Amino acid sequence: MSSGALPRRSILQGALMAAVTAFNPVSRSWASGDEPGALSLPPFDGQLLLDTAARQQAADDFGHIVHRTPWAVLIPGSVEDIVKVVRFARRHRLKVAGTRGIGESHSTGGQAQVEAGVLIDMSALSTIHEITPTSAWVDAGVRWIHLLQATLPLGKSPPTLTDFIDLSIGGTLSVGGIGGQAFRHGLQVDNVLELEVVTGRGERVRCSPVHRKPLFDSVRSGLGQFGIIVRARIRLVAVPPRARTYTAAYSQLAGLVADQEKLIEDGRFDYVEGSISVSGGVRSYQLEAVKYFSPEAEPDNAVLLQGLSFQPGTLAVQDSSYFDFTNRLAPLVEFLKGLGVWQLPHPWLNVFVPGRSVTSYVEQVLDQTPEAEMGQGTILLYPFRNQALTAPFLRVPAGRHTFLLSLLRTAVPPTPDNVTALLAKNQLFLEQLADIGGKAYPISSGPKNPSEWCEHFQPLWGLFQASKEAFDPDHILTPGQRIF
Ligand SMILES: Cc1cc2nc3c(=O)[nH]c(=O)nc-3n(C[C@H](O)[C@H](O)[C@H](O)COP(=O)(O)OP(=O)(O)OC[C@H]3O[C@@H](n4cnc5c(N)ncnc54)[C@H](O)[C@@H]3O)c2cc1C
Repeated sequence: MSSGALPRRSILQGALMAAVTAFNPVSRSWASGDEPGALSLPPFDGQLLLDTAARQQAADDFGHIVHRTPWAVLIPGSVEDIVKVVRFARRHRLKVAGTRGIGESHSTGGQAQVEAGVLIDMSALSTIHEITPTSAWVDAGVRWIHLLQATLPLGKSPPTLTDFIDLSIGGTLSVGGIGGQAFRHGLQVDNVLELEVVTGRGERVRCSPVHRKPLFDSVRSGLGQFGIIVRARIRLVAVPPRARTYTAAYSQLAGLVADQEKLIEDGRFDYVEGSISVSGGVRSYQLEAVKYFSPEAEPDNAVLLQGLSFQPGTLAVQDSSYFDFTNRLAPLVEFLKGLGVWQLPHPWLNVFVPGRSVTSYVEQVLDQTPEAEMGQGTILLYPFRNQALTAPFLRVPAGRHTFLLSLLRTAVPPTPDNVTALLAKNQLFLEQLADIGGKAYPISSGPKNPSEWCEHFQPLWGLFQASKEAFDPDHILTPGQRIF
């Protein structure tokens, strides 16, 4: 089963410069095979794109702020191509990174980009190999939406889905992958049963909680530092076909937070999130809670809403199919793309806030965020229980509950000065976060040099470094994270 190729690939495939068959290690540039001293490139099943258009397209992501141009883009035709390119890069000290697709990375700070190296377009390998009653074995380039479309006819779904499901499986497993189901099931990295990885040594290996556990634990939320994930076995759970969404407003943040904490502890809903909107200087706090159900057993609204303290008259209840619920952002995304907003800079901030300090920290951030600075972007607040987490390199604050605060800004106006000012604001919020023991979710602004990463990974920085030496000793993988 294939999840389908991208149409732009056919345009790019014609762009390979046939004369280039070698790499000149002295000038560190591509060469023709007959150039003295040039090293022959291995033969690839896929394509190595060297043309300017492909390389420029690869120097972008959803943030549209950082632009790093690779020397080449590999469209792998097989996993062996990834092994070959990693080994070639290791031999010649080239940098390599995997990405969801050329210019399609959903990172916002250049994390998936690679200056003067090789970018691997993982979307070229997007086959769903097997679906069993309990798991799916898939290529890392498969997107969650395509996996879901394949599993739902069997009544199955990955337990946790990101709000936006058009993300790659390799991409979210490299960071975490959080959604409103995380309080029960953990993040997506907590629901992967086995991985196949091409390490920075150029070895193709499988790992799981019982086989090569150190590699398995390194790669999950490992920010692409230890290996390129090529395949994953994703846990599946049974899901009813319908979803009932309840939204309701609170006048105070503390009220929303108290109800969110109550709901993630008693587990009466299947999904719990929240959002904050600011209009005309007035803040509104919204709960979003969802119950999955079968048509023959509808949820009892009164029982589900008992004891919650939202403002009377603000409740809205909406039924949809499970798929439409999980894919609820698709119409908005299409609308934003149509308006051109998708192409504007996104100086996003995503931070894990300790439950004990969430109200004061979020209010502090809101007090320093004038409405205009959001560029009509969204503010989200996801609660989850630390108990559900299993990936060591997903760093969250200590405590029982953690909240992901997402400040999903669009820079309006999209000028360099405005972007710089908003990134400076992010830095301020990160410093204030450090004061309360919080951690960045490193998909947007976050640590940006080795000493900040050392701080981020403490007390596991030593383990992180040791894993790097074990699995990517020449430090060729994923330089865009700026960790090493
Ligand atoms: C509109 C939008 C909505 C989002 N919603 C959510 C959400 O609800 N929850 C959430 O948790 N996150 C969310 N994110 C963030 C998202 O999870 C991250 O951007 C994540 O990195 C996935 O993006 P990607 O598939 O585009 O991967 P990329 O951005 O291409 O890659 C992300 C990182 O992983 C590395 N990488 C990619 N593929 C591989 C691989 N196969 N092997 C090893 N390393 C790899 C890259 O080098 C990079 O360092 C959202 C982002 C956007 C733009």
